[in-house]
Amino acid sequence: MTWEQLERSCLECKRCGLAYGRTNVVIGRGSKTAPVMIVGEGPGQKEDEMGLPFVGMAGELLNLALESLGFSEKDYYIANVVKCRPENNRTPTDEECEKCLPYLRAQFTLIRPKIIVCLGNVATKAMIDKSFQVSKVRGIWYSKKGTLFMATYHPAALLRDESKKIHMWEDLRKVKIRLDEGFDT
Ligand code: SF4
Repeated sequence: MTWEQLERSCLECKRCGLAYGRTNVVIGRGSKTAPVMIVGEGPGQKEDEMGLPFVGMAGELLNLALESLGFSEKDYYIANVVKCRPENNRTPTDEECEKCLPYLRAQFTLIRPKIIVCLGNVATKAMIDKSFQVSKVRGIWYSKKGTLFMATYHPAALLRDESKKIHMWEDLRKVKIRLDEGFDT
């Protein structure tokens, strides 16, 4: 599948009920050759309006963390497990995630990142292990088929509980260190 095909499929998609409440399909943003893919849960109100992921308050917090740790825009691509906004920002259902995951897998195949950072429980369960809770597994590296995975808190959780900020910073710092070390060994 090419990027064009993927984007067309997403824009026309009605695989799940989220299609009927959306303003825009939120596919992703960032470098399509990035070594790091950052995966969130789903679009919020601002993301739905603008058609871009992580552009609201949670996105600003994420951008601030990435910038302060020295990530450049070529280092990452950001996408969500579901591409359409769940009403009132509710958590997407397992069925909605399952229906939408082929698009995220296609993005992964096109980008071939070395590292996937999962923000929050929905992304962590979808990408690493269904039994995982982000509060228990955050900051730990997992390796699957040559790709490294790390879970950390979703920035929206940091807006509700400031004490989690330091943990997300610590986790993203580990990702930056790994990125700077390279992947040849
Ligand atoms: S959330 Fe995903 S599966 Fe559901 S309609 Fe949107 S693009 Fe399709």
